[in-house]
Amino acid sequence: MTTTTTGTTTGPGPTHDGYATCAPAADWFHVADLGDGITLISEPGHVNCFLVQGTERALLFDTGTGLAPVSEVVRHLTDLPLLVVVSHDHLDHRGGNADVVAHADELALVGIAAHPTALEPGSTLHGAVDRGFLDAYAQAMRTVVDQYETFAALDAQSFYVLPTLDAGDSPLRPVPDTTSWTVPAVRPDVALADGDVLDLGGRSLRVVHTPGHSPDSLCLVDDAHGVLLAGDTVVAAASWLHGAGADLDDFARSTAALAGLPLRRVLTAHNLCAERPPSYVRSVAQTAERVRAGQSTPRPGTDLLGNPVDRHTHDGVTLLLPPSPTSPSPTSSAAPSRTDPQTEEIA
Ligand SMILES: [Zn+2]
Ligand SMILES: [Zn+2]
Repeated sequence: MTTTTTGTTTGPGPTHDGYATCAPAADWFHVADLGDGITLISEPGHVNCFLVQGTERALLFDTGTGLAPVSEVVRHLTDLPLLVVVSHDHLDHRGGNADVVAHADELALVGIAAHPTALEPGSTLHGAVDRGFLDAYAQAMRTVVDQYETFAALDAQSFYVLPTLDAGDSPLRPVPDTTSWTVPAVRPDVALADGDVLDLGGRSLRVVHTPGHSPDSLCLVDDAHGVLLAGDTVVAAASWLHGAGADLDDFARSTAALAGLPLRRVLTAHNLCAERPPSYVRSVAQTAERVRAGQSTPRPGTDLLGNPVDRHTHDGVTLLLPPSPTSPSPTSSAAPSRTDPQTEEIA
């Protein structure tokens, strides 16, 4: 049973301990009106955030990497009081939280909302991100940009698929100098439980807890418009299920539940595409179930950070799982492998 609420607020409001951005907003973000009162705020090829506007309140679903000031984009898009909802604790979805908090007055910031575990005393879910991991993440982003340029040149010569992508007119930006990039700790102050309904005025979004990619993953569903804001639970990219806290059984359950919803649009947090058809959710759920049931033979590989993974690909969906002991070593590495726990917290 759902109840109309704005989440459970605790404490005096979100705080942070200082931050720096690395690029002007105009050089980094791609902004597009997606219809249905939703605006895409994209870091092309990397992370997609979404601004949803009602008549009384606006909601920003994720704040991205924090490499550029997302607050500046939001201020140009709306004057409504702003609630930020963080899909999960990974840095590329909360990196802009410090920027938002620093501009709280201009944004009429209502709060920063997340899964209740992020608000628990002593929680480190939204803690400051390690310098070494930021460097590794930035290097992975540069690798993606380099690969895109090769891909785009080949496409223009032979394949012609890029113009068919919704993000085909927003080529990747050069990754800026990231030596001053920080993702400071910002403690959320609004707890969102499964079934909570966020009333924006004239439209509402329902919170769905979708553990699997991470224990604290949240999706938002606009039931009236059949829109799913999927976070990292359904991505137009490989699903990372090999990191700390990832759980394939949970992921299979969560995606099966999403696949049963009467959806019209599915908005995704990665990578070049921001939208996938509802049938894709069913494909993700079916692939997860197939892998869970042991009916899939993986291919060894690496993730974008160079960590070894088992790749399970079926029906256009790729799931990355921890390498099984019997998997042969991958033959290539996209980036130097790192072994500290934070390397798991990408995607
Ligand atoms: Zn993630
Ligand atoms: Zn992500």
